Amino acid sequence: MAEHESLEFGKADFVLLDNVSMEEFMANLKLRFEKGRIYTYIGEVVVSVNPYRAMNIYGRDVIEQYKGRELYERPPHLFAIADAAYKAMKRRNKDTCIVISGESGAGKTEASKYIMQYIAAITNPNQRAEVERVKNMLLKSNCVLEAFGNAKTNRNDNSSRFGKYMDINFDFKGDPIGGHINNYLLEKSRVIFQQEGERSFHSFYQVNMCAPVFICIVSPSSLQSCINDGADFKAVADAMKVIGFTGDEIQTVYKILATILHLGNLTFGVDGDVTLIENTKLVSVIRELLSTKEENVEKALLYRTVATGRDVIEKQHTTQEANYGRDALAKAMYERLFCWIVSRINDIIEVRNYDAKIHGKNTVIGVLDIYGFEIFQNNSFEQFCINYCNEKLQQLFIQLVLKQEQDEYQREGIPWKHIDYFNNQIIVDLVEQQHKGIFAVLDEACMNVGKVTDEVFLQGLNTKLAKHAHYTSRKLSPTDKSLEFDRDFRIRHYAGDVVYSVVGFIDKNKDTLFQDFKRLLYNSSNSVLKAMWPEGKLRITEVTKRPLTAATLFKNSMISLVENLASKEPYYVRCIKPNDVKSPLLFEHERCRHQVEYLGLLENVRVRRAGFANRQTYPRFLQRYKMISEFTWPNHDLPSDKDAVKRLLQGCGFDHDVAYGKTKVFIRTPRTLFSLEEQRAEM
Ligand code: ATP
Ligand code: MG
Repeated sequence: MAEHESLEFGKADFVLLDNVSMEEFMANLKLRFEKGRIYTYIGEVVVSVNPYRAMNIYGRDVIEQYKGRELYERPPHLFAIADAAYKAMKRRNKDTCIVISGESGAGKTEASKYIMQYIAAITNPNQRAEVERVKNMLLKSNCVLEAFGNAKTNRNDNSSRFGKYMDINFDFKGDPIGGHINNYLLEKSRVIFQQEGERSFHSFYQVNMCAPVFICIVSPSSLQSCINDGADFKAVADAMKVIGFTGDEIQTVYKILATILHLGNLTFGVDGDVTLIENTKLVSVIRELLSTKEENVEKALLYRTVATGRDVIEKQHTTQEANYGRDALAKAMYERLFCWIVSRINDIIEVRNYDAKIHGKNTVIGVLDIYGFEIFQNNSFEQFCINYCNEKLQQLFIQLVLKQEQDEYQREGIPWKHIDYFNNQIIVDLVEQQHKGIFAVLDEACMNVGKVTDEVFLQGLNTKLAKHAHYTSRKLSPTDKSLEFDRDFRIRHYAGDVVYSVVGFIDKNKDTLFQDFKRLLYNSSNSVLKAMWPEGKLRITEVTKRPLTAATLFKNSMISLVENLASKEPYYVRCIKPNDVKSPLLFEHERCRHQVEYLGLLENVRVRRAGFANRQTYPRFLQRYKMISEFTWPNHDLPSDKDAVKRLLQGCGFDHDVAYGKTKVFIRTPRTLFSLEEQRAEM
């Protein structure tokens, strides 16, 4: 319905398709992609196809075209959605959120950045210095978080390996005055292991290239790529300074990165029954980086302190345990560093830094950029969590898209007939239900006093979930040769079947870090490092509580995320990845069709169409169409705008295709709106 768009570019809104079928949907999506129209609406949802080339559609001139406009007045664009969210926030005082979904490489992070840039560009017309400072910090935080949370994967050279939700707070004038970031489950296993062709987090290569004082050790082969680590290092260092990290803090960040790199080279051997460190020189380097005592580093790597009753003893690691401990330390230090960076940024951009009395009540726009559904060759605990997260978000989408429509019809007093579609709540329950969900079975297996193995966990699943329609394993379907007997289970997700290997689930869920490491880091004379490890303060005899498992923490964070999103007015961006080779020309039909299917886009169109294609308030409608009727041009003399709209539509013969709500006119078929638009254009 967008203005200035002719049919040669296909339909700007899928709701306008002649028939809602997969074929027509795909044909329209493909046509638009080929014509360089990467955005298309489903009502107020933006469907975006990654163009894999620089598009000249994000400049200042384009921003000006979208500022303050209604969705249908301009060709589909992220800016229009950002503007809609902004208007709802500013005019109606609503907290809003923009949920961006799609698989790895589909363009979520790029979209979130364009949205933030748009909001930054349209706010603060008076150039208040304080607001400019906040905007700058919010934008710069992206750069820092990407350096530490993103990595090159086989799917995406700049893949987000964490989930991110960012609130931007606005004052009563509609200007940004602060923000808050929530981060979700960083894929920390990447610190110690990467698939062939992938890299660890960008930050390691940046520090290795550019801070030689911390000693180069990354192999050169992993450095060659299209990524410019040198330039990025400078940009990140600059961004950290702008945000407000102190010199000490930035130095400590580099030292931690260097420590982790060195830990990767540390090896253990045995002499008789004594475990020892083979390259003891590294211990000195690490000691210096961490500002701790040398013998403490060595001891923490080789021994663990255990409390047995009232006695405290030191137990020597086997080499296997020592390796495990070293890897756990590297992962934990990185994860802690990442969380610390986020909380430092939050400290600085937090809105409480501003005087609420001056700024009045503040409203929020949230932007969610979280990992999309993943199916790898080998899927483990991380994929399981990520895919569960996507189930939760899909569930929210279903509820909100339906609920919003229904609520609006009810509010406006319009009759409405319920539409059915696949509800994935059953899969959400399969994962998160108390006592019998997969997370519960996993936690139970981790609590076992006797044997705690991945196989025991799998047996637990087989016993508890044997009858579940979305769960299967080789034991339950012996003929299914695609599943390994002692290793695999399969979940039928809303987005497709995924086989998970249970190997590593128990370890990753327990996420054990020996207490000795925590004490080591807490006892550092580097106060920045020390502050990251407050629990190291406890003596061994004081540590009593079992920490929450990774699964439980993740589940809780997802539940509160969804609650938070549900409390806001949502806007959606659904990203589609057109091919696996980053080509701007290739639209792989089957690949795209699959995404359209699992994102539930056809269902979305159907729901949208079963209702009304368009709705507008009476004054707005008149403002746009009053010139096409003698009764309303240039002004009407009817008792209300509602009566005037009725008169106008009766005059055009469209009365049968609309419903009159309390404040809005609802137009059922897009064709009617099209005709109105045409008549308007002819005037
Ligand atoms: P992940 O889940 O792995 O983090 P993602 O959905 O966040 O993936 P992005 O990093 O946003 O994916 O996009 C991947 C790449 O695709 C970008 O680095 C960029 O090269 C290209 N790309 C995405 N969106 C656009 C766009 N609007 N214009 C030009 N190129 C784009
Ligand atoms: Mg991303």
